[in-house]
Amino acid sequence: MQRRNFIQQSSLTVIGLGVFGSLLSNTKKAGATLSVNSKRIESRIFELAKFGVDEKGRGYRVAYTKGDIEGRAWFMELMKKAGLDPTIDAAGNIIGKRKGKNASLKPIAFGSHIDMVPDGGNYDGTLGSISALEVIEILNENNVVTEHPLEVIIFANEEGGTIGSMAMAGHLTPEGLKQKSQSGFAQAEGIKTLGGNPANIQSAKRNKGDIHAWLELHIEQGGILEREKIQIGVVEGIVGIVHWEVTVEGFANHAGATPMNLRQDALLAASQFIIAVNEVVNSVKGTQVGTVGKIAVQPGAYNVIPGKVVLGLEIRDLDAAKIEMLFKEMEKRAAIIATSTKTKISFERQANESKPALTDKKLQQIINISAKALGFTTKFMQSGAGHDSQEIAEIAPAAMIFIPSVGGISHSPKEFSRATDMANGANVLLQTILKIDKE
Ligand SMILES: [Zn+2]
Repeated sequence: MQRRNFIQQSSLTVIGLGVFGSLLSNTKKAGATLSVNSKRIESRIFELAKFGVDEKGRGYRVAYTKGDIEGRAWFMELMKKAGLDPTIDAAGNIIGKRKGKNASLKPIAFGSHIDMVPDGGNYDGTLGSISALEVIEILNENNVVTEHPLEVIIFANEEGGTIGSMAMAGHLTPEGLKQKSQSGFAQAEGIKTLGGNPANIQSAKRNKGDIHAWLELHIEQGGILEREKIQIGVVEGIVGIVHWEVTVEGFANHAGATPMNLRQDALLAASQFIIAVNEVVNSVKGTQVGTVGKIAVQPGAYNVIPGKVVLGLEIRDLDAAKIEMLFKEMEKRAAIIATSTKTKISFERQANESKPALTDKKLQQIINISAKALGFTTKFMQSGAGHDSQEIAEIAPAAMIFIPSVGGISHSPKEFSRATDMANGANVLLQTILKIDKE
C-alpha cells in the first residue's frame, strides 16, 4: 500500500469510528442499550429461596409465616440500598418509590409477590419482584431519571387469594379479612404480622387514575412458550373462572334384580354428561377450557345402581360471554341425556366465580414492540392462572409479560426458569417502562 493511500484509509477509519461512537451514545441516551444483570437476578432468586426452607428442605414461604416475613425483610433491605425507601401499606403490601422528573405525573408501577404456595417453587412471583428491583438498580447505575415516578410493589399474600392487590383495588371486604389463611391466621391477623393495619384497610385502596400503568413480569406456569420455543408471552388477559355443582338424580335400586331397560342410573347419565362437556368445549375454536374435576357417587356400592351423582364443573375463558355460551350448550346436552337416561340433571352456580380480567391493549403493543426490538420472539396469550394483575387491571391500565417455565411446571419445587429467559423478561420489562415513560 502506498503511503498516500494509507493516510486516506486511516482517516476514513477515524471518521467511521466517530460516527459509530456517536450512534452508540445516542442509543444509550434513549435507553436502548440498558441491559439487566442476568447473574444478579438469578443469584437473588437463589438467595430468596433460602428463606422459609423447612427441615425437609422444602420451600415454605407461605404468606404470614416466618419465611415470608424474613424474605420480605431481606427484600426491603435491598430496596433501601437501591434508594427506594420502602413502606408497608395497610394491606401489608411493600411499596418502594423512585422520584421522576415530573412530580405531577402518576407513577408507573411494577412488581409481583414473594409469598408462595406450600412446597412451592422459587420463580412464581419472585421473578417479577426481583426483576422490578433490578430495573431500579440499572436505572440508578446508569443515572437515568424517568419523567414519571416509579413504584415497585410487592403484594401481600398473592397465593392465598390475591389479598394485597384486592385491597389495593378496593375489593377486600370485612368478610374477606375474617377468612382463615393457609398460615392458620385469619387474613386480618396475618396482615398485622406483615406490619399492615387491617383496621384501616381502605387506606390501601387506590382509585382509577392513581397509577399510570401497572406491569408484572411472571413465569408462564404452563408449557406453551417452551413447547413453541417462544421467548416472550404478551398476556392478553387473565381468564374468568366459573364453577357449577351438577347434581344428577336417578333411582338407587338393586343392581342384580333390576333389568337394564328399567334403570335410572345417575352415574351412567353423569358419564355421558362428562363426555358432553369435553365435546362442547372442543366444538368451538379458541383457548377455552372446561373440566369436570370432581365426582361423588351415592350410595357407592358394588351392588346398588347409583341413585345420585354430584359433579364439579369448571369453565375458564377470557371472554365471559363465551363461558355463558358454552354453559348453555352443556345445559342443552344435559337435558337430552336426562331424558334418555330417565334422570334429572340440575345446576347450581357457585358464588366464587372470577370475571375475566383483560390487560391494556396499548400496553400489550408496547411490550410486543419492546420485545421485538430486543430480537425476541413473542406470542399473545392468555393466563390460565390468577395473578395480582387481575385486581390492578380494575383500577389501572395493566399488562403482564410471561417467560417460559421449563416443562410447564409450577407450584412445585421442580418449577424452573433459565437465567437467560429471566434476563430476557426483565429486559423487556425495563424497555417497556422506558417506552411508556416517553409516551
Ligand atoms: Zn404468582
